[in-house]
Amino acid sequence: MSQMPPLNDLYREIVMDHYRTPRNRGELPTPPARRADGHNPLCGDEITVYLLVEDNVIRDVKLSGHGCSISQASSSMMSAAVKGRSIDDVRGLIVQFKDMMTSETVEPTEDALRSLGEIASLSGVSKFPVRIKCATLAWNTLAQALDPGSPQQG
Ligand code: ZN
Repeated sequence: MSQMPPLNDLYREIVMDHYRTPRNRGELPTPPARRADGHNPLCGDEITVYLLVEDNVIRDVKLSGHGCSISQASSSMMSAAVKGRSIDDVRGLIVQFKDMMTSETVEPTEDALRSLGEIASLSGVSKFPVRIKCATLAWNTLAQALDPGSPQQG
């Protein structure tokens, strides 16, 4: 467990809210749900994502695991963002989130704010390279659950 990076106050509040009150904690029976496990050895973060997909829509999502504030907040925000969304929308969100985390700019772009909403509060983490994997873990694990055959991404 490492310390919270110095995000701006508003963003830190959003992150801490999700960390203290994580959304969609629990498990789903597999099958019919899909399950994927993610691990960030740099920090010790672990996450399991359960997805119930019907008609190309994510009907339900649950998370279990443990880790630092960034990894836990990011997974909670991810779960809230993808529930009820189409697979295509969710694939777009994954790309946008990863773009935000690898961009040079610390403040989220207008596009990121519009489509990612409160998830954009993690944009400041991109300043802290060792924490980027904490933030992207949930999203990479989500991608694994969507496409079980795809190779693990860093
Ligand atoms: Zn972490």
